[in-house]
Amino acid sequence: MREITVEQITEVVKTLSIEAACDLPRDVEKLLKEAVATEESQFGKYSLEKIVKNVELARAEHAPMCQDTGIVVVFVEIGQDVHLIGGSLNDAINEGIRQGYQEGYLRKSVVEDPVLNRKNTGDNTPAVIYTELVPGDQVKIQVLPKGAGSENMGALKMLKPAEGLEGVKDFIIKAVTQAGGNPCPPVIVGVGIGGTMDKSTLLAKKALAREAGQPHSNPAYQALEEELLVEINKLGIGPQGFGGKVTALAVHIETYPTHIATMPVTVCLNCHAARHKEAIL
Ligand code: SF4
Repeated sequence: MREITVEQITEVVKTLSIEAACDLPRDVEKLLKEAVATEESQFGKYSLEKIVKNVELARAEHAPMCQDTGIVVVFVEIGQDVHLIGGSLNDAINEGIRQGYQEGYLRKSVVEDPVLNRKNTGDNTPAVIYTELVPGDQVKIQVLPKGAGSENMGALKMLKPAEGLEGVKDFIIKAVTQAGGNPCPPVIVGVGIGGTMDKSTLLAKKALAREAGQPHSNPAYQALEEELLVEINKLGIGPQGFGGKVTALAVHIETYPTHIATMPVTVCLNCHAARHKEAIL
């Protein structure tokens, strides 16, 4: 049994929180730079050039690339042969967020009660934490700060199985259309299909943790991702909603077996500030 201390977890989460805010992953940056070359609309191209410049400045200055540094979603894969020692995993993750947001001068955006008082917790905790047991003796931590502008434009629908693939495609396109310029496009479109209502939503969020533009391993879903990307980019929403060819950088689909009588579909959008960082302990 391999031992990992919760202090190690805190340290890693702190570092990832700051890095995520200030250093957009190269996979997303690469797609943004390709989009500059692809975009034909004058305002769309101008907007993309500014986005890329902002990414470079944030990295050089070690400053957040957006004022909304998000509520932090954390995916933790824990190897079955790992023994976490020294305290609670959730407390350790939240301590990492607390330290990262304090030391990185990142905006604290979390309120303690969603309806009744909406009082800021003051340290951007708690994070939204998902843990999964996996084979092995390592711990993988993925940190995704999620801005509200894109999060607010997510959509879920419990489709009837008879609506089929066309129904799925139609719902995804409608969700992106209705989102318009609100999620700060170009977006990455996370799609979860199957399972239950809650599972499809988790799948859609997990889809955003994938390397940007990495295709689905199943060729049929890969083809669907490509088809949807083409259709979404015909909508004309364009970078920051200024109109143009590049509304989305990628479509990521995740699926799970489901009940014979249901077909849940969730769309979770990530803005161009598609921040995600990970580490393996
Ligand atoms: S949607 Fe993204 S880019 Fe737009 S304000 Fe929110 S975090 Fe920033």
